[in-house]
Amino acid sequence: MKPTHIEHLGIATPNLEAAMPFFEFLTGGKCYNIEVVEDQKVKTAFFKVGEVKIELLEPTCPESTIAKFIEKNGGRGGLHHIAFNVEDTAAALAEAEAAGLTLIDKAPRKGAENLMIGFLHPKSTCGVLTEICQQPR
Ligand code: ZN
Repeated sequence: MKPTHIEHLGIATPNLEAAMPFFEFLTGGKCYNIEVVEDQKVKTAFFKVGEVKIELLEPTCPESTIAKFIEKNGGRGGLHHIAFNVEDTAAALAEAEAAGLTLIDKAPRKGAENLMIGFLHPKSTCGVLTEICQQPR
């Protein structure tokens, strides 16, 4: 797998509105996109640090995996995943599977900002939930 760069860091938060001022302070910029991703039951807010984005994730319902993650983290949330940008998500997922890694997504699906994404299971990625993503064409 040859990622071009880290696309974003996914950070879970119980309250997007409450978290945004800190990330505006930290990044020295405004949130440039807020988007609900129905598929993942999250509301996202994006910030930029150079080429790398920060993706804040707030659960939209208690069944959201983000809600469960926050619960496990004492209600505060925290660093949830790291996303690597590749040329071709489908090819990268196939390569990861061939290397013996456990996939959460066997095939790419559409994520926030129209990225084609797929997740690798943390049990085979040193405990770090890993997202593979490809820019929209
Ligand atoms: Zn992500």
